[in-house]
This record gives sequence, structure tokens and C-alpha cells, in this order.
Amino acid sequence: MANKGAMIGQLGGQPILILPEGTLRQIGRDAQKNNIAAAKAVADAVRTTLGPMGMDKMLVDSIGDIVITNDGVTILEEMEVEHPAAKMMVEVAKTQNEEVGDGTTTSVVIAGELLKNAEELIDQNIHPTVITKGFHKAKEEALKILEEMGIPVSLKDKDLLKKIALTAMTGKSMEKASPKIAELIIEAIQTVAEVEKGKIKIDKDNIKRVKKHGASAEETKLIKGVVIDKEVVHPGMPKRIENAKIALLDTALEVKETETDAQIRITSPEQLQAFIEQEQKMIKQMVEKIKEVGANVVICQKGIDDLAQHYLAKEGILAVRRAKKSDMEALAKATGGRIITNLEDLTEKDLGEAKLVEERKIAGEAMVFIEGCKNPKAVTILVRGSTEHVVEEVDRAVEDAIGAVASALELGKVLPGAGAPEVEVAIKLREFAERFSGKEQLAILAFANALEIIPRTLAENAGLDSIEILAQLRVEHDKGNRNVGINLFEGKVEDAIKMGVVEPLKVKTQAIKSAAEAAEMILRIDDVIAAKKIEETSTPKPPEEY
Ligand code: ADP
Ligand code: MG
Repeated sequence: MANKGAMIGQLGGQPILILPEGTLRQIGRDAQKNNIAAAKAVADAVRTTLGPMGMDKMLVDSIGDIVITNDGVTILEEMEVEHPAAKMMVEVAKTQNEEVGDGTTTSVVIAGELLKNAEELIDQNIHPTVITKGFHKAKEEALKILEEMGIPVSLKDKDLLKKIALTAMTGKSMEKASPKIAELIIEAIQTVAEVEKGKIKIDKDNIKRVKKHGASAEETKLIKGVVIDKEVVHPGMPKRIENAKIALLDTALEVKETETDAQIRITSPEQLQAFIEQEQKMIKQMVEKIKEVGANVVICQKGIDDLAQHYLAKEGILAVRRAKKSDMEALAKATGGRIITNLEDLTEKDLGEAKLVEERKIAGEAMVFIEGCKNPKAVTILVRGSTEHVVEEVDRAVEDAIGAVASALELGKVLPGAGAPEVEVAIKLREFAERFSGKEQLAILAFANALEIIPRTLAENAGLDSIEILAQLRVEHDKGNRNVGINLFEGKVEDAIKMGVVEPLKVKTQAIKSAAEAAEMILRIDDVIAAKKIEETSTPKPPEEY
């Protein structure tokens, strides 16, 4: 029951108010039930989207804009949930997304099921503290089991890596292009990977993505170098420079506007002529400086005015203006050059190096390719798709796949997907539970059962008989076939690795960790004290800034 009103204490027979009037309070069972219900509602909302056969959600916001997605985090963020416990569930998804970039729906669905099972135990008069203790032990054990289940993967295992990339890309409706894209993602990662003390390190910043529509996703390409979505600024400039020495400038090649409000009064044509000549001289000096240090390519983050372009062209220097800051940073890293903010500081040492700088036409638009860079660990994926919308979708898929493969390599282990790890952990946890007695055992069993929500939901979302499938999975796992998962397309159980459904170990361990932590946190709450809401006025909100 919501205890409307204030918290009441006693002092010498005199009741005292310690909370302000209007505070909403829920204590004990009520608080727990209410929180669990809210958290379960969140889990239910995303359940139907799980897996390759999951449904999409259509989200309509307050001004009627529509988003169609089956991405767990996106859905939860758009839902703008209010309830504090529901908000904690949204946090689970966000954490999962930040930590590993995948497995968000999985973590939320498991958390919901953990709470549902916990509720049944609470109804049997088991104290939440006992439940959370059991859950905690079960979680630690689950992580160990997953670790043991992990299959080692290294940079050379191209086949396995490709499966990880493909699994991460499923459901993104680009099936035809996927195998080719998966291959170039693996090549990109193999190029940028570094081995430090036996550990693989992948700096994802070294893999740049440039999006360009106007060709099918299959035309997506890997470039060993940097691509800038800009053209060579002047038609008189060379379009191709070999053995490039690149000046990276974060300063404009133009005569500076006077910064103060000073006026220059010109009273005669001679004075005007002199003034123009002075300006010309300054621009010429800038170009001469660039020439003098030996640069034959200029990439400028700011403007290059007509006159500067003219002089640069005359010197046979290829120049690009208004490059993005991120391009400049990528170029500095790739070519070993230094970004210069004051032209006078430019020296030969600051120049970047590349074997080739060339302008090429992509879908009718010019782009500048910088290849054969001094630092070979810089690559670009030129992401293609027929329309802008498709390019965005392909780009998200590429990003996910890079994340998954990198994560798998960094931990050096992968797991079968398709429900296999959850079934395996559930079976092993049930054995583990036997070491404990009474209520704690019940809590560990509740944890084990909760994990099976994943295979069950995958089957349900594919329109399969989940009871039958789960029974078949258990039979296989009892026989020791721990990689067996669900072939959702054929409605049977099968070795997930052979099926090509492979995920990084980290996705699963993190999903179980965040789910368990959220469930524990929500179960520990037995008192919800909510301040009185500030009355909403009937006047509409002022329009937001445009
Ligand atoms: P999440 O947000 O948790 O990543 P997804 O909708 O991506 O949710 O679904 C992930 C689940 O789907 C994982 O359990 C994964 O193993 C499973 N899965 C992915 N592809 C397949 C497939 N081809 N066959 C069976 N299961 C798959
Ligand atoms: Mg996923």
C-alpha cells in the first residue's frame, strides 16, 4: 500500500513528522513487488526483439516521429520510462552497450527473469538478502563456467573471426553483402592489431569509416590508408602525387581579416595598388614557406583563398581545404605528420609521409585517398549502400562487427551463440546448487532457470515450440555437446559453431554480470521514498530552440 503522507515517529508520546507532507512512500513487500513489476515490464517490452527472428518495435514519440528498430538500447532510450526500478533496467542496457556494444537485449531479458523468479521465492517467505546472496554465488560460478566454455581465438583464425563478424551483422538486412564485408573487416582488424606482451590490442580509432551512398553495400571497400571526403581544391593542381610530403595545417591560407575594428583609409589608387600588392606578397610568402620545407601536399582544416590556391597550383602542390578535425587527427596518426596552427612554425620534420595521394571519383564525387602511409596501421572502410538510409544501416552493422571481432580477440575467447551457453550454464549451475542447502540452494536454482529464458525466447520469437526445443537442448548438453544451440531457421538443435553463430565471450559474461547486478540492486530495496512531484501546470512547455 502506498503510504501517502509523512513518515511518523514517536517522541515522548508526541508524533513527529520527519518527511514533508505529500511524500510517497512504499515499504517492504509493497516496494519490492512494485519494483519487480516495473523491471519485468521493461524486460517484456524488449523480449520479442531478441535474436535474428526477433520483431521490430515501432516507436512514436510525442511529436509523432517514428523510429523502427529492434535494438534494445534504442528502444529503452526512446521509451522514456519513469519508474525508478525501470530506469535501473535501462541503465543495465546502457552499461552493456558501453562495455561491449552488444548483448543489450539479452542482459535486460535475463535481469527481468531473475526478478520474476526472485519474486516467487519472496512469496515463499525467503528473505531478499538470502536471494541476493544466492544470486551472487550463482553469478560468480556462471562466469567461471562461461570462461571454461570459451573457445580460444587468435588473429590467424580467419574462419572463426568471420563467423563472429557475420553473427554481429545478422538481422541488419544486408545478407548478400555480409560475407564480403565480414572479410574486409577481418583484414582491417588484422592490419591494425598489435600484440603487446602476448595480448592482442586493437585500437578501433585506427579503423576509420567513410560513408558514401550511390552503390550497393557489396561495393564496400577497405583502403589501406585514409580517405577524405573532399576534393582537390583547384583544377590546376595535380590530382596525383607519389612520395607525398604532407603539410597538415590548422590555419587558414588567406590574408587575415583585421581582428579589431580598425579601418584602413585608402585615399589614392596608388595606395590601393600597394595594399593589394602587400596582400599578394603575404599569400605568396605563405606558399613559399610550404614549398621551402618540401611539402607537395597540403591538407588544411581551414580555408584556402583563391590566390593561395593559384600559387599552390603553380608550385605543383596538391591541396585540400576545410578537412574535418577527425580527418586531420587520423592523418596525423597515419602519416606521422604534426598538425600546425601557425605556419611560421612549419618545418620539414612536421610533414607527414605517404606513398600516394590521389583524388578519385566515387559515385561521381571526388574524394582524396592517402595510401601507403608511414604508419601502416591506419585503414579506412569506405562504406557503401544504395541510399543514405541503407549506408547508415550498413555502417552500424560494420561498427558492430568490428566491435565484436575486436572484443573476441582482446579476450582471446569466443562462445557459441543461439542459446547454447545459457543452457550449458543452467545445467552446470543446477549441479553447483547441490553443494548448498535450503533457501540458498533455491536461489541458485532460480538463477539457473532464469538463464533459460534466452533459448526459450529465441525459439518463441522464431515461432517454434520452446518447450520441445529446450528439452532437446538439455538432452544434447547432458550428453556433453555443450556447443549445441538452436537452428532457428530449420527448427532443430545443432552445433552453433558449425552453424556459424559465434559471439565474443565478453558479450555473455558482461550480460550476465550486469543482469545479476541489477537484479541484486533492485531486490535490496525495501523502501521507496519519493518526493512529492512538482505540480505540472497546464500551460504548454515553451517551444525548444531551433
Ligand atoms: P542482443 O541485444 O542481446 O545482442 P540480439 O537481438 O542481437 O540481442 O540477439 C542475440 C541473440 O541471438 C544471441 O543469443 C545470439 O546467440 C542469437 N543469435 C544471433 N544470430 C543467430 C542465429 N543465426 N541463429 C540462432 N541464434 C542467433
Ligand atoms: Mg546483438
